[in-house]
Amino acid sequence: MAYNYDPENIFAKILRGEIPNDTVLETEHALAFRDIAPQAPNHVLIIPKGAYVSFDHFAAEAGADEIVGYIRAVGAVCKMLGVDLGSDGDGYRMIANTGKNGVQDVPHLHVHILAGKFLGRMLPNI
Ligand code: 5GP
Repeated sequence: MAYNYDPENIFAKILRGEIPNDTVLETEHALAFRDIAPQAPNHVLIIPKGAYVSFDHFAAEAGADEIVGYIRAVGAVCKMLGVDLGSDGDGYRMIANTGKNGVQDVPHLHVHILAGKFLGRMLPNI
């Protein structure tokens, strides 16, 4: 089964510079920018620069350098926000909504970093 990537998705347009964004960090393999509709005091999206629709797509087809670069960028953003545990920060929630059941709106892999307040339980009843 092949993965289907739509090059006209909003984050692909952001990567091509066709839509502006509030960049937090840009590296060789990743771009991090503030969510347009923040759901916490700090709400940052981190995307790989490659054309991957989901985390499983990325895990299956990205090169080792892309994977390391992307994961390191996630860690660097947490550090920049001062919420990483290595800096004794107060922590964060990382979310990767995926597909129909995960209610993914933008079909380009992204993790949300939500931080800056107590976020409660992950899901009701868990
Ligand atoms: P998803 O539901 O796919 O996990 O989340 C997509 C996220 O992208 C949402 O939180 C939404 O607010 C954000 N978003 C959608 N369009 C844009 C945009 O043009 N710019 C930015 N910065 N965020 C966007």
